[in-house]
Amino acid sequence: MPASPPTTPVDVAILGGGPAGCSAASWLAQLGLSALLVEREPQLCAALHGLSFRQDWVLGQPAAALAELAQHYAGQVERTAGITLRLGTRAESARHAGGAWTLQLATGEHVQARALLVATGLRLLRPARYFALPHRRVLDATSLTAQRDHLPPGRVLLLGAGDNAAENALHLAERGFDVTVWARGAWRAQAHLVARAEAHPRIQRRLATPLPDALRPDDRGVDVGEERFDVVAALLGFEPEPSAFALLSEHDRPHAFVAGDASGRWHPCVQTALADGVQAAKLIEQALRPEAAAAAPQRFNNRQVIHLQGLRFKANLGILDFERSGPQPIQVDAEINLGALPIVARDADIGRVLDYRRVRAAIIDECTTEHTDLVEALVGKLCNRLMSLPGVVGVRVKLTKLEIFPDCEVAVSAETGRW
Ligand SMILES: Cc1cc2nc3c(=O)[nH]c(=O)nc-3n(C[C@H](O)[C@H](O)[C@H](O)COP(=O)(O)OP(=O)(O)OC[C@H]3O[C@@H](n4cnc5c(N)ncnc54)[C@H](O)[C@@H]3O)c2cc1C
Repeated sequence: MPASPPTTPVDVAILGGGPAGCSAASWLAQLGLSALLVEREPQLCAALHGLSFRQDWVLGQPAAALAELAQHYAGQVERTAGITLRLGTRAESARHAGGAWTLQLATGEHVQARALLVATGLRLLRPARYFALPHRRVLDATSLTAQRDHLPPGRVLLLGAGDNAAENALHLAERGFDVTVWARGAWRAQAHLVARAEAHPRIQRRLATPLPDALRPDDRGVDVGEERFDVVAALLGFEPEPSAFALLSEHDRPHAFVAGDASGRWHPCVQTALADGVQAAKLIEQALRPEAAAAAPQRFNNRQVIHLQGLRFKANLGILDFERSGPQPIQVDAEINLGALPIVARDADIGRVLDYRRVRAAIIDECTTEHTDLVEALVGKLCNRLMSLPGVVGVRVKLTKLEIFPDCEVAVSAETGRW
């Protein structure tokens, strides 16, 4: 009878060994939970190793290259007791039964874990119309960043107008390239990069223009329509790497967590990935040790709301003749969402609390300073005014005309912001 494959028991299996996976593994170990980290590349933080330019995003490390940071992250994880590494392999199946996840790795090993963390990052968008056949003159974000200091200056076309495109445009222009930035929309990059790119004499912009249908590369350049470039780079964004999610798709995913870029961050970066790893480790601890969750004091409520109900006064509102000739009685009901706040505010926090007298005054002021024709417009103005008050993250407003008909009231309500 063939020997059954070895099974490795751990508290948490982590798929993906980038900053998020490494940060989670390190924190799990500190919390006394064992972690097994599966990384498909032969080294940890593989995505960062080619990024040898000096970045300025990571607080406290303004001149460090991401490749250098990657070495620090990987080194610490490798030295931490309680973390088992499986590099250069991947999970081929994942199933949840009897309160545990069982992963089968490509090496044949089985891993049994009480919780699973997906930290598999993003993959570049590489449209088939540009990347069907690999060509050394047609690059993506990673290959451009790795090669840009070695390319001989010439004419380069960058497709896309995000941070990556703006930063690369400036870098290449400084190196003497003539750069064209071509995007189907407007800039989506940080304002300081855009300002510098717009002022640079070597950077031409072709924004709000449909992207080319095809690129025709040959040994000496790339034809794009009637034009010719030395190199074209498609910097068209990212999407969550799908491989690990595909393994989980048939399950209802008990005790499965996601961290880092894989969670679809609005701004994916090293710092958010590290922070996500910490959060994930703490959430996993609470899931695996319910007694820890129960013992943890609840410091924040999920949402604090100010309610103003039945505020009645006269407002200049409406398009009917009698409405234009003078104010009419209305009622405003409003809910102001202040988001998560400490359950028990200390006296010292009072400066951060929104004074409800200010909410009341803002409503009356907005409804009485000028005549508004449509009740819908006034509701919109109220929403904007209340959203502008400090600390407000969401607003619900209902405005009732009390005497418009003899037999009924008429109201319009709206909701904006976060609820
Ligand atoms: C060109 C470029 C420049 C950048 N510049 C900066 C910058 O200046 N500053 C900054 O803060 N951020 C920058 N970033 C973004 C930063 O690299 C990411 O936000 C960060 O690495 C995200 O960490 P992560 O752990 O979530 O994902 P990743 O670092 O992507 O790690 C995910 C890991 O999962 C592995 N993996 C994927 N699928 C599987 C699987 N099925 N099984 C096992 N392993 C798997 C991958 O090999 C990878 O190692 C840049 C990114 C790029 C591409």
